[in-house]
Amino acid sequence: MEKGLKYVSFILVFLLTACYYKVKTENVAATKSDDIIFTKGEKITNNNFIGTVWLNNLVQADSVNQNAVGSVTFEPGARTKWHSHPAGQIILALEGVGYYQEKGSQKIIVKKGDVVKCPANIPHWHGASSDTKFIQVAITGREKGETIWLEPVSDDEYRQ
Ligand code: MN
Repeated sequence: MEKGLKYVSFILVFLLTACYYKVKTENVAATKSDDIIFTKGEKITNNNFIGTVWLNNLVQADSVNQNAVGSVTFEPGARTKWHSHPAGQIILALEGVGYYQEKGSQKIIVKKGDVVKCPANIPHWHGASSDTKFIQVAITGREKGETIWLEPVSDDEYRQ
């Protein structure tokens, strides 16, 4: 009888340990942030951005489909200048934690899975939070002209 109990205990401990390691492995896979969907592309060298930002141009706008689609990777603290889009923009958050702010409104926090719709001609900026990178896909209407770039986002504005 005692032998039987020992055997059952051994099996239980073995099964619980196996379950624990399975759950642990799944958690690691789910939170691994190197599972990027699009490669980060080329480092942006123009002065419309502050900090280190990468762009992978996924779709060029043309006469049939007038949206440009790009995957943008902002290193922590990096952001755009203030700017506006004559035909608006849609931001799909793929990874990390970012910020989005329209002129005259509070900055909002944008996380993986969030969708932001920027209205046409509304000055705004977007970028990474100060300690976490942010990857977004930006879908930008081009039928009414190019992005209009404005003044830099100051450190005070960025932190507010
Ligand atoms: Mn924008």
